[in-house]
Amino acid sequence: WRDAVDGGVDQVINPASGDQVAEVAASGSADIDAAVQAATDAFATWGRTTPRERSERLLALADAVEDNLDELKRLEMENVGKPASIIEFEFDLTVDNLRFFAGAARTLQTQAAGEYIEDHTSMLRRDPLGVCGGIAPWNYPLNMAVWKLGPALAAGNTFILKPSELTPMTALKLAELTADIFPPGVFNVVTGQGETAGDALVKHPGVAMVSITGDVDTGKLIARNSADSLKRVHLELGGKAPVVVFDDADLETLVATLAETGYYNSGQDCTAPCRVVAGPGIYEDLVAGLSAAVGNLVTGDPNEEATEVGPVVSAGQQDRVAGMVSRAADAGFFYAPTVVANPAQDSEIVQREVFGPVVSVQRFADEDQALSWANDVNYGLASSVWTSDVSRAMRMAAQLHFGTVWVNDHIPIVSEMPHGGFKQSGYGKDMSLYAIEHYTELKHVMVKF
Ligand code: NAD
Repeated sequence: WRDAVDGGVDQVINPASGDQVAEVAASGSADIDAAVQAATDAFATWGRTTPRERSERLLALADAVEDNLDELKRLEMENVGKPASIIEFEFDLTVDNLRFFAGAARTLQTQAAGEYIEDHTSMLRRDPLGVCGGIAPWNYPLNMAVWKLGPALAAGNTFILKPSELTPMTALKLAELTADIFPPGVFNVVTGQGETAGDALVKHPGVAMVSITGDVDTGKLIARNSADSLKRVHLELGGKAPVVVFDDADLETLVATLAETGYYNSGQDCTAPCRVVAGPGIYEDLVAGLSAAVGNLVTGDPNEEATEVGPVVSAGQQDRVAGMVSRAADAGFFYAPTVVANPAQDSEIVQREVFGPVVSVQRFADEDQALSWANDVNYGLASSVWTSDVSRAMRMAAQLHFGTVWVNDHIPIVSEMPHGGFKQSGYGKDMSLYAIEHYTELKHVMVKF
């Protein structure tokens, strides 16, 4: 634990009240230098630990997170404005993810060793990269941090986490929990702004890889800024998930799913079903049903059990959402859940990520138009198709240009399956055995005998 070298601090705000909850170090490049040095020193031994040892330590971290769930949830609620009613799922996934990567540490895969030319045995190793950096967003602060540190540490890397300047609280608690589990320098947290602490991490020649979850423009900047050191970059960026609804969809299930998941976490979810394109026969009933369901969502104090939608994360985010829809709020940074009926395909609300409790619904004429509208955005993270026609579901699944396609559902994720984007939603995968591959170098060793 140390202050920023230049003594700078950032205020941390509770978005439900606007009150300050903490002051944390506003780190700069000198602090990143110190973290990289610690992580480099630690890598000399951590990089040579057995998979079993790394696995056992990750399991110990999962247990420690589980033992401290109440406090971690309280911190996340206070810092992000998440309602108590939605927080369970997120933390269940966090713990499960750590346990998944603990297992993955022991089961890394490559092609079989063998004599691919005479008298020479070839074998493949998956070596750790060295020091890896993770840059997290504010919408799922702890979860996003774990998605990155899990595979990084499992593969034998050391790790530096730069949480969002808006939501550093659970990252700091995580640092406290890891102190007795990992040797010093294996896991480091550096709080601070993106343009200072984040930038220094991205440009540091001693960092082998950075994985960022954040905005598309931030991702592009990071890809450019990491080019000089040619570090590996993993980009989990924004989304604008289409929900393609055919006339034969189960309307009741669809409306219930949209009312829940489209507004979950105040719509601040990169896979949120925010862009419905619906068939001509179902459109009217869908808009009416969804508007009624959304009108019943309980917005308010995150600590109240009945609350379904809390505030958005900051005044800036509230302005962004209001600017795109123009309907205003209350005390704290609240925004009323909204449905926008039949916007044009080239409108801002269809083309740009709002990242608030807002779902648009467009009426398509036929399957070709549904597919072309669904694919016609720069994003490519997640999508869903709703129909009882299996052939149509399979046709759509093959042609939707998104990293995930759900059929007759939207939002569930599991540790075993990859999560990542196409197009400007970035490249690289979080979760699953595919994620861990990014955090390793494949090495060919050939022995002549
Ligand atoms: P953001 O891009 O503003 O910030 C993300 C992180 O990047 C923060 O920690 C920030 O400090 C850091 N950062 C900003 N500028 C930087 C720079 N120049 N160099 C290094 N780091 C820098 O994003 P946000 O507003 O925190 O999060 C919301 C965004 O995240 C949305 O676009 C959302 O879709 C996306 N997101 C994507 C996924 C996914 O899995 N694809 C998941 C959650 C959120």
